[in-house]
Amino acid sequence: MKILEIREKTVPLQSSISNAYINFSQMTASIVAVVTDQFIDGEQVIGFGFNSNGRYGQGALMRERLIPRLISSNEEEHQTKSGDNLDPFKLWNTMMANEKPGGHGERAVAVGTIDMAIWDAVAKIAEKPLWRYLSENFNGGKSKKNVFVYAAGGYYQPGKQEEGLKEEIQSYLDLGFSVVKIKVGGSSIDLDKKRIETALALLGSGKNLAVDANGYFNLSEAMAFAEMITPYNLRWYEEPGDPLDYELTSALVNNYLGAIATGENLFSVQDATNLIRYGGLRPDQDILQFDPALSYGLVEFLRIIQMLESSGWSRKACIPHGGHLMALNIAAGLGLGGNEAYPGVFQPFGGFYDGAVVEGEEVKLHELPGIGFEGKNDLINLLISCLKK
Ligand code: MG
Repeated sequence: MKILEIREKTVPLQSSISNAYINFSQMTASIVAVVTDQFIDGEQVIGFGFNSNGRYGQGALMRERLIPRLISSNEEEHQTKSGDNLDPFKLWNTMMANEKPGGHGERAVAVGTIDMAIWDAVAKIAEKPLWRYLSENFNGGKSKKNVFVYAAGGYYQPGKQEEGLKEEIQSYLDLGFSVVKIKVGGSSIDLDKKRIETALALLGSGKNLAVDANGYFNLSEAMAFAEMITPYNLRWYEEPGDPLDYELTSALVNNYLGAIATGENLFSVQDATNLIRYGGLRPDQDILQFDPALSYGLVEFLRIIQMLESSGWSRKACIPHGGHLMALNIAAGLGLGGNEAYPGVFQPFGGFYDGAVVEGEEVKLHELPGIGFEGKNDLINLLISCLKK
């Protein structure tokens, strides 16, 4: 069993939205197709993947290093010992041959993108939804058919102030969500306070609202913001400062009683280990948001879970970033605490399969073989386009 060919393409992800740090007007993403030598009911098995959002396309890295390594390796390096499926762990090692440790940046995103397509192919070859395959192989058969999801949005949009935010939050409530996250840090603290109050007027309890500063604040700004939001008792306060500044995180944790969420910009098990070692986070309340698509894929994410559990954390503390179907499958199959959702932005990558129903805080899983991209029409059409020469 072998991967015959890997195609990749960079596609635009243009949008007028901004967070505290960046706007998305020039954003791109990579899409990939992993073509295998397997056929099911006469159809060739092809795995698809993409690189989550916020980190641009990774075509050059894939074309120059990762794809040639995979395609030039032999069949034994592609398949499991019994030869009944592709082996994502062996394939991961092949992609990472001749790569130095450390420096986890764009490389982690490129590997994660191909890794996603490999797992899609693996579950298709097993003729199972990926979440069920993961549950059977890595979670003792346990899985959750309903996963906690929250609507991530509340970006700063040109020309859209309070009324725009109200409309947006109402649209998430209409879709069935009850927990919503909005951006903060991109305007004055007074204006953000107004945005929080606007959101709370619709969402009711502070437990239904999370805020995300996208790593923008220095320590004193992060502390001032923490003080401002304390009375609202929010669901969580996300990425207050630089994602790699563990001292800042730790100092803030000592001064803020509410939950802190972070980790979407840590791309390796080593970075995640440092966060747990030095970030001062509390296993009983804080949230970890490592995005498997950005951080060397599911192979590395399994190592992160192992590290967490041997450090006294529960995998339920993980609610991955990205709002994509890959993380939804992982959350269901491995029993994580939930998953982000982008019902309104980053289309066609954001959101789950067509017709997915959110009730209260949960979404029901699919029964399609693989990750389930075939159940999201606009997304599968885009992914298939990278097969065209
Ligand atoms: Mg975030």
